[in-house]
Amino acid sequence: MHKDATRAFLENMPTLNPGEEFWFACHPGVPCFNACCSGLTMPLTPYDVLRLCQGLDISSESFIEDYAVPGSYEDSGFPLLHLRMDPPPTRSCPFLSASGCSVYEHRSSACRTYPLGRATMPGEKGGVAEHYFLVREEHCKGFAGQKRWTIATWLQDQGIEAYNRMNDRYMQLMARFKAVAGGAVLSEKHATMTLLCLYQQDRFADLIRSTGLLSRVGLKGAYADQPREALFAALMDDPEARLAFAFDWVELVLFGESANLEPALRDAV
Ligand code: SF4
Ligand code: SF4
Repeated sequence: MHKDATRAFLENMPTLNPGEEFWFACHPGVPCFNACCSGLTMPLTPYDVLRLCQGLDISSESFIEDYAVPGSYEDSGFPLLHLRMDPPPTRSCPFLSASGCSVYEHRSSACRTYPLGRATMPGEKGGVAEHYFLVREEHCKGFAGQKRWTIATWLQDQGIEAYNRMNDRYMQLMARFKAVAGGAVLSEKHATMTLLCLYQQDRFADLIRSTGLLSRVGLKGAYADQPREALFAALMDDPEARLAFAFDWVELVLFGESANLEPALRDAV
């Protein structure tokens, strides 16, 4: 869908307010079981790819080759992957099995959020403004279910908090770029760098190791009190910490400064 059409689609969805309730139940007994997992145009965020690589126990390179369609945001040029559906006639999600989702514990943000939709934009004081809406689709019989939810209980049940936190960082990074780019899109060189740092956590770990990247930045903000050796160990051991650091690093490269990193070698080892 064209981006303006997408925006119009989202804006026309009825907003679901905090505390407002909806009824929904999805389980193998529903007549539409698995009907929603085919023919999708499903965006994959950097955190989605990180989790799916963990769940499938494969490298980011294998994931991108086997399961992703590369692309970019039309208005910023930032990388955006989509999940590659199986070929026609099924056009099924490659992770769909007769018993349901084979990567359920590692499914993407979009799969977790459905039947809600979430629209975000930069909020005040560096925060995020969000609004939710119900995606009522004809084929989905889950709304006849006898389970009552609010936005908060649904999000908690679906384990989406870490996804939203990371996805919001990407949204904020792009918003910052668009605010200063004057309509230009990311250069090819920066798009390649962003793809590697954000979507390929195994390769970003290699980059940190091989270039001594940590010794070339000043630490501040969230990293201010962290000894470099401890931060290096955390970045090598914990892909989620590494992705959070990758957002800081890309921000530093693109804008010359970020909340948590600076170019100066103030306390380099
Ligand atoms: S990842 Fe799982 S829940 Fe999401 S579309 Fe594929 S099979 Fe369905
Ligand atoms: S269409 Fe709705 S109720 Fe049916 S399996 Fe998908 S989410 Fe569940």
